[in-house]
Amino acid sequence: MKTHILGYPRIGGHRELKKACEQYWSGKISRNDLLEAGHNIKKHNWQLQKEAGIDLIPSNDFSFYDQVLDMSLTVNAIPKRYHEVMLKEGNSEQDLYFAMARGYQKDGFDITAMKMTKWFDTNYHYIVPEFEKGQQFSLFSTKIIDEFSEAKKQGILTKPVILGPVSYLLLGKEKENGFHRIELINALIPVYLDIITQLIERGVEWIQFDEPFLALDLTGSEKEALRNFYTTVKNEFPKLKTLVATYFNGLGNNLKLATSLSICALHIDLVRDPQQLDDVLNNLPETLSISLGIVDGRNIWKNDFGVSFRIIEKAQNAIGSDRIFIAPSCSLIHCPCDLDIETDEKTLTPEIKNWLAFAKQKLNEVVTLKNLGSGKNEESLLDRVEERFDAAKSRLSSTTIHNQVVKHRTEALTEVDSRRDNPFAIRKELQQKALKLPIYPTTTIGSFPQSKEVRSWRAQFKKGTLTQEQYNSLLRKETEKTIRLQEDLEIDVLVHGEFERNDMVEYFGERLNGFVFTKFGWVQSYGSRCVKPPIIYGDVSRQSPMTVDWTVYAQSLTKKLVKGMLTGPVTILQWSFVRNDQPRSTTCDQIALAIRDEVKDLEKAGIKIIQIDEPAIREGLPLLKENWQEYLKWAIRAFRIASTGVSDETQIHTHMCYSEFNDIMHNIADMDADVITIECSRSQMELLDSFAKFNYPNDIGPGVYDIHSPRVPNTEEMVRLLKKAKSVIPEKQLWVNPDCGLKTRHWEETEKALKAMVRAAKTLRAEVEESIA
Ligand code: GLN
Ligand code: ZN
Repeated sequence: MKTHILGYPRIGGHRELKKACEQYWSGKISRNDLLEAGHNIKKHNWQLQKEAGIDLIPSNDFSFYDQVLDMSLTVNAIPKRYHEVMLKEGNSEQDLYFAMARGYQKDGFDITAMKMTKWFDTNYHYIVPEFEKGQQFSLFSTKIIDEFSEAKKQGILTKPVILGPVSYLLLGKEKENGFHRIELINALIPVYLDIITQLIERGVEWIQFDEPFLALDLTGSEKEALRNFYTTVKNEFPKLKTLVATYFNGLGNNLKLATSLSICALHIDLVRDPQQLDDVLNNLPETLSISLGIVDGRNIWKNDFGVSFRIIEKAQNAIGSDRIFIAPSCSLIHCPCDLDIETDEKTLTPEIKNWLAFAKQKLNEVVTLKNLGSGKNEESLLDRVEERFDAAKSRLSSTTIHNQVVKHRTEALTEVDSRRDNPFAIRKELQQKALKLPIYPTTTIGSFPQSKEVRSWRAQFKKGTLTQEQYNSLLRKETEKTIRLQEDLEIDVLVHGEFERNDMVEYFGERLNGFVFTKFGWVQSYGSRCVKPPIIYGDVSRQSPMTVDWTVYAQSLTKKLVKGMLTGPVTILQWSFVRNDQPRSTTCDQIALAIRDEVKDLEKAGIKIIQIDEPAIREGLPLLKENWQEYLKWAIRAFRIASTGVSDETQIHTHMCYSEFNDIMHNIADMDADVITIECSRSQMELLDSFAKFNYPNDIGPGVYDIHSPRVPNTEEMVRLLKKAKSVIPEKQLWVNPDCGLKTRHWEETEKALKAMVRAAKTLRAEVEESIA
């Protein structure tokens, strides 16, 4: 039996990668410093795995921004608009790479970033490859090869992890009509063969090809492409050992295809789909090894050794031990790095810590499972198994987890708890009377720049060098400054700026029962952006109002309307590590009830507009369509439980980002928010088409300013986007707002962009007036 992992977190235990990248972007460190920071992280990770006893250690699981973007650079799928950046003197491959990821607005250039979207059903985002008809590929970046050599110098013969060609193509998007990207497979294969050749020259034994699409629905030509590629590799390099990795789903209908590929080993996700094991074993040819993904790469609970051991045993009985790999279910990049550095018992009590395992601990779990499976029964091993049973038992009965009042309240929910008094048409009139907003009302999505100062106040407050009173007073000043700015800019619906929030989920989690936090439990979300997901370990309930004070304070500063800002139940669920001892829907209902209480309290305190963000609704969709409706049913209901406790006059907004709505349009409409704001500018309003086709009845704010890039759009650009919106959606339904919250932006950009945005709204209003006159 062998152990391996599919990938290790690359951000560094203390977010070294984030810090290095951001310093490089702001010109504070050199390219060499950046590369050095990357090297140190890789070196540390490789060493750690070696010490833990992992047999096959991956390379090329590192990335400075995103592994899919790495692949685009590798195969020279570099859109033309970046070619000039590449040629500019003094610019390196690194600068080109970051230009593709983040856009490039300096040295007289003004180039938008490539599109970003969710990596399957995770909260990781990748950069979407762009393909043209008849596109050619060639080997451009040699990162895969270089990283292999880098590890070899350290004495480790790694297993390079390469995104398989079929999945790479399928993750991308056609930039013109008239072809399907899978048709590019034959142009792409030679580059892959070139890479493999160079790796073999350097002594590679195993290569891991990630083909997550093997666990999704595939068309005939996609299946054909998979079959062909791996057969070609086998024919060209008969001695090379290839492992194909699937994850996030069972093989389903592709089981026969997967087990008949010309490869040496197949990795399956047995956490997501333990049921598939029997079928896979029954179909496994003698030439194929199986990698058992039994340690959850997506969650932070300790492995249940009992369950895992039975899986290993079953596999051993069927095919013997030699052809078995023990592994986490997927790459560990979706887990925080190390539980050992969590030593603050106030943030993470020993009782709860004893239930958890992060990436580093999972390495040990993988090795322990191999030892168990190999029949080792040293005392230390048996002790470890014993500990597991105790930890599992304590979760069953712990009073910190189980709260009968919450359980009863959730069970007592009925239809009435998820419906507004009247339909939207009636509400809209009542709200118009109460709110008196102009046509094309302007607003923002909630957060304003979380400047260095704001973050340092929070750090000082946490350290104890600022008192609660001092901290609050600083935040109040920042809030006031933000209110004044919005007044000056003549925005119609103001926000308080969310300065008191470190993160839109963490903030609420910290105020709810049933959540616990880590100090360093960071996970990469996109590029240098990391999130620290809360851990939902127990029944959820609200202790006291969570946002009312800040919202009421902001409202007291102005005659204009201030919008209350909340995070929705599905997003809180989706962006947390969720307990695995009850259905997710039950946990979601509990959160929904807590948010409902908050919404009602805001209304009671005189707040007339309340936004409940649900950017994560879409990413919660199961990967297979056949499972969608079941999820959507409970997810949409949870949003409605949270949002419908108010009177018709109170206007409920929701916000979503990077979503394609086509296929869930009626569910989005079912949420029945009075206003929905969505990300739209990167896709040039393409997203709106689904709303138009559906005749979406409620109000919509299509984002006109891409806040994920430091680029500042001008008024004309936004007018153009709004006119595009107006051509498909009746203008009385339209709002004007940025794509998302502004927390990652700088004040200067923000002010310029919002000024341009309000001017754009006014331009459209003037046209309406002209047409009336
Ligand atoms: N209200 C949040 C903010 O503005 C929304 C963020 C999001 O959609 N991800 O930061
Ligand atoms: Zn957003």
